[in-house]
Amino acid sequence: PEALYESAMRHVEVCNRNDFEDIVISVKHSDPYMMIQAYRKVAEETDYPLHLGVTESGTLDTGTVKSSIGIGSLLADGIGDTIRVSLAADPVEEVKVGHRILKSLGIGRPGVNIIACPTCGRLVGDLFTVVEEVEEAVAEQDFDKNLDVALMGCAVNGPGEAEGADLGVSLGRGRAHFFKHGEVVDTIPEDEIVDTVLEAIENWDEEDEAGGDGGPEDKEEADAVETTGVTKPDLPTS
Ligand code: SF4
Repeated sequence: PEALYESAMRHVEVCNRNDFEDIVISVKHSDPYMMIQAYRKVAEETDYPLHLGVTESGTLDTGTVKSSIGIGSLLADGIGDTIRVSLAADPVEEVKVGHRILKSLGIGRPGVNIIACPTCGRLVGDLFTVVEEVEEAVAEQDFDKNLDVALMGCAVNGPGEAEGADLGVSLGRGRAHFFKHGEVVDTIPEDEIVDTVLEAIENWDEEDEAGGDGGPEDKEEADAVETTGVTKPDLPTS
């Protein structure tokens, strides 16, 4: 880290000697730990804007982990002004990963934040497909909305997280409770979850962002979701 810092400072000095002050410093490294330490040192010693990145980070899988650790740690400490995710993959993936890092830290336009349960023995439906389809559609449609959407796999522990999000779903057997602003507003068949969630995101408006109510008239009509078969209290819960 010290060598990266010193090298950057030598170049800054050359710029300064030539009255060039329009400088952004980058001390990228392929090792996330090294780059974190180097950027911290530069941030301590100078006020220049910093461009963050983990170079040659690897494939989509490995590179996403390394970039999230390296770039994410620094941003979480308030260090960094621009970022670049470098992956041995389609550049479109680099942008997506970069956007997700920012979104995870609540930086910039928050957008639609998908929260999904990790699943366990209580899972009672095809949550993976639901999450994948919702995530893909959200990425494709690039909604200009700011909200959290929780997609949960059972009616035992799912409702807690679904209630805490702006929109939520907790699966039952073949059906799901649909939540808005912490209240159950509908019960829908599993194969309509994706369309229902996307429609609700589409219709999400400024009033909702300010925190409207959950529509008591809809709430009254919501049926109970069957939870039979979810009978293993010793299984992990969430
Ligand atoms: S208990 Fe938690 S992790 Fe398991 S399916 Fe329900 S919500 Fe998901």
